[in-house]
Amino acid sequence: MPSAEIRREELKAVYRQASSCTKCPQLAATRTTVVFGSGNSDADLMFVGEAPGANEDKQGIPFVGQAGKLLDRLLGEIGLSREEVWVANCLKCRPPNNRDPLPQEIDNCQDYLFRQLELIEPRVVCTLGNFATKLLRADPATGITKLHGLQEIRTLGPRTVRLYPIFHPAAALYTRSMLETLREDFQRLPGLLALEPPAQPELEEAEVIVPEPALVEQVEASTDPEPEVDDSQMELF
Ligand code: URA
Repeated sequence: MPSAEIRREELKAVYRQASSCTKCPQLAATRTTVVFGSGNSDADLMFVGEAPGANEDKQGIPFVGQAGKLLDRLLGEIGLSREEVWVANCLKCRPPNNRDPLPQEIDNCQDYLFRQLELIEPRVVCTLGNFATKLLRADPATGITKLHGLQEIRTLGPRTVRLYPIFHPAAALYTRSMLETLREDFQRLPGLLALEPPAQPELEEAEVIVPEPALVEQVEASTDPEPEVDDSQMELF
């Protein structure tokens, strides 16, 4: 199993790759920053939201607006901080006018999320709302209202995790009953983290740490200098 340090270095390489991504031409043209994810690159708990909003796009950090403040508060209530967990989104770029992510955009972006799962090695993945839940359960028909608060063991690419869908904090901002449900679901997280980690699928070690061929090709073929990345973001993980 690669060390946390090796996985973190590889995560930085994926971050650099994502920072200049143009797989979604419209998003690449309208974004201010790529919001890769932030927190502990060796976290046991990972949250996956939908897509960056205006504040996140400006700051390059996920969940920094009102929904993020609620996320921080709920984390604090279970004795955790943002620095201890990893927070990411299905999409790394803000959809213009906060429209819903398009299926093609989710498809284009999902490799980055799966690489994060592989390199961070969380035990529990908490999906926030419908988009992340449907993506990671690979079941577009079953929504969050039915699934919230129910953990299941799922293999996501090379990683087997406890998947735990809960409502998106943005949905709980203005509805008290939703907030109470979200809080109750949050309170189950420490118990899930205390459970035995799920058994992992057998993997070739090389599969886990070797950089993606596309990245290697891109770096080898390029005579350009490394794409500029905001170093302050790197310090986030
Ligand atoms: N909503 C999300 O899903 N993600 C963010 O980063 C912010 C708001």
